[in-house]
Amino acid sequence: MNLGRLRRAAKRRTLNWTRSGRELDRGSYSHLVDYHIHTRLCGHAIGEPEDYVREAIRKGLAEIGFSDHMPLFHIRDDGLTMAPDELPIYAELIRDVQQSVESIAIRFGIEMDYIPGRMDEVWEAASAYEFDYVYGSVHYLDGWGFDDSRRLSSYAGRNPDEMYVRYFELFCEAVEKGGFDIMAHPDLVKKHGVRTTLPVDEMYREAAEALVEHDVAIEVNSSGLRQVAQELYPAIGFLRACVERGVAVTLGSDAHAPRQVGMDFDLAVKHLKRAGVTEIATFQGRKRTMWPLLTPRELG
Ligand SMILES: [Zn+2]
Ligand SMILES: [Zn+2]
Repeated sequence: MNLGRLRRAAKRRTLNWTRSGRELDRGSYSHLVDYHIHTRLCGHAIGEPEDYVREAIRKGLAEIGFSDHMPLFHIRDDGLTMAPDELPIYAELIRDVQQSVESIAIRFGIEMDYIPGRMDEVWEAASAYEFDYVYGSVHYLDGWGFDDSRRLSSYAGRNPDEMYVRYFELFCEAVEKGGFDIMAHPDLVKKHGVRTTLPVDEMYREAAEALVEHDVAIEVNSSGLRQVAQELYPAIGFLRACVERGVAVTLGSDAHAPRQVGMDFDLAVKHLKRAGVTEIATFQGRKRTMWPLLTPRELG
């Protein structure tokens, strides 16, 4: 066994969370957005909204959106989401930063969990707010918060193939019934390194068909590069299945710290281009607008 090699690999894993990521050439892309930004209200993010905005301006993004976790109603966990009575505070926090910053467009979004049978109460709580967009996420497989990094021991004894099948079933159900504008991190099931031996292309195809049928967009999310998965969400095969069918695509970093805004977006744009994406989706008042996505080379 080559312990030196293993030690280096182990080091890389722990450093991923703190590494600075790749830098973008300031202002050299035509319309880069980061729609997936959290706030400290979720209990596992740091910094003030102004710090996230400053980083977005520094990186030359055209537009950003906050999309903190919607309160959960099936469980209470201060380390996962804000409490229901904190929603007005979130709205105020974003309103304040929108009013104080003029040099970049700032949208007001939310990231909602898809919890079968509980969506009515979630939407009822959300109805008081005029979100620019609503992300849908599958973080739970029948009550198991599989993406929660605090509970990795819960993976013991799980069947990865069953995880994939159930994840994609819930993903399709979320697209059909969730009422979301965008599906976040579309293949989150791989976050902690789980892979399936089943023909995953069939799952991608089914998911892409549901997305196009219900006119729901997806995001390319760069945070998978900071996790064991070491990959962007979604995988290139999944992204291509979506693009071929005309599913709209937007972009997010899933920033939980200011320096993560726009992190690894040069890789994300390469990924988008490889899959044939030419336009990026933006939202205002839950209405979608498409912008041409041009790289520095395309801009000349
Ligand atoms: Zn998420
Ligand atoms: Zn998120």
